[in-house]
Amino acid sequence: MASALMVIVAQLLVLVFVSSLYSASAACFPSGYSCDNTTHYTWCSSFDGKSYTLPCPPRTSCNLVSNKQMPCSGADAGMYMDKYSCDESQCQAPDCRCASFDPPIDNPIQLVSFTIDDAINAPYWDAVQEIVDYGHKNPNGCNITMTWFMSFDADPPCNMIPYIPSRYNEIAAHTIHHASYAAIDEIADSMYRASQCGGIKESDVVGYRPPYMMNAAWSYQALQALNFTYFSSNIDSYGDSGNTNGKRYWPYTLDFGVHGTCLDHCDPDMKAPGLWSVPMPPVTKDDGTVVSVMDPPFVGKDLEDIYMQSFMRHYNGNRSPFGIYIHSRWITDDPTRIDSINNIIEKMLSYDDVWFVSVRDVVKYMKDPKPAGTKDIPYFICPGPTPPEMVRPPAPRPAPGTPPTVPGDPNNPAPPTTNPDGTPATPPNNFNQSPANFVAPSVLAILVILLALSF
Ligand SMILES: [Zn+2]
Repeated sequence: MASALMVIVAQLLVLVFVSSLYSASAACFPSGYSCDNTTHYTWCSSFDGKSYTLPCPPRTSCNLVSNKQMPCSGADAGMYMDKYSCDESQCQAPDCRCASFDPPIDNPIQLVSFTIDDAINAPYWDAVQEIVDYGHKNPNGCNITMTWFMSFDADPPCNMIPYIPSRYNEIAAHTIHHASYAAIDEIADSMYRASQCGGIKESDVVGYRPPYMMNAAWSYQALQALNFTYFSSNIDSYGDSGNTNGKRYWPYTLDFGVHGTCLDHCDPDMKAPGLWSVPMPPVTKDDGTVVSVMDPPFVGKDLEDIYMQSFMRHYNGNRSPFGIYIHSRWITDDPTRIDSINNIIEKMLSYDDVWFVSVRDVVKYMKDPKPAGTKDIPYFICPGPTPPEMVRPPAPRPAPGTPPTVPGDPNNPAPPTTNPDGTPATPPNNFNQSPANFVAPSVLAILVILLALSF
């Protein structure tokens, strides 16, 4: 009996060793940040077990304070502007482009992107569906496509997110906690969570919008390390406000750094070759005064007028991509805006050569531009002439002024924020698996089998 026990113990030790090897290859460990040396840091994700090594931004060095905090610190350059200089002889299409008012070809089409930002809970979701499933058609007869920049900081409706790819709309990242100056942890984890909830591949999440439009040098480097295609913010518009001649910047790549004004934690020497910047032009009054970049504070005819006036300056100007950029809360604050936005989209589409496409598809156009008049643009995703069946039926519209603190979806209740003893609760989802969690069930199962075999 004693020798049998020793055999079992030996078998167990071998199994634990083999399992730990398997775990090490399946997921990096420990999770969090570490310094490789003074110039480079590594971040290991507990979500998908991948690790990334990045350089610290220029003039900073790696100094680990906590493995939860991006460790580069030092004399970053802070705010700067007018530092941009691009050598066109060294920056050629399709993968490099200098910031410019010039279109990528003569006589381009007019691109418009409709984007929705932030976490979306049930009532807002139902309102947005009335726009997505309206049946707006591009010149090729296909339904329009849009982009959702999703964060997960409020009542994340994971079970509803498959609706987005079901409409061939784009899911893009907006951090997990709606974090400003986000580092790789916030961006990569939101990419992972969006893909898991949406039922798509991580590599299908290629776009990012910085919360509060606040990017740091390390944000651009993280996007590059994570193979993102583009980011979209309004930083490129600051140096361009007040114009009335329709000239606004077309998307460009960061091979020669960031054009425009960088707000903080920036560095003019920071470059991210191949990463596209897609500017967000604001809506403007007739005299060129900027009204807002997102959520213009109007309803009804005033809302339709301000969008159409701004759009026409692009259409009759240099045709740089235009956009309707909203938070879903802005729609439910006054549900008449649903009809207004549908009217605005229809009016814009009534002009020749106007296409509503996701921001992802705007970048595809930049790499392979087609002239106005083209009806067959193969890389524009075509969801077909009619939307597929609803994922879930729309709820009645909320009354104007409905406060944002509405109950969550009963199919997806918000997790408790504290344990019974008052300590912060760990959200009960499958995104908090540690390597130990992965190992324990398999080891236990094998132990049971071994014990059964030994006796
Ligand atoms: Zn946001």
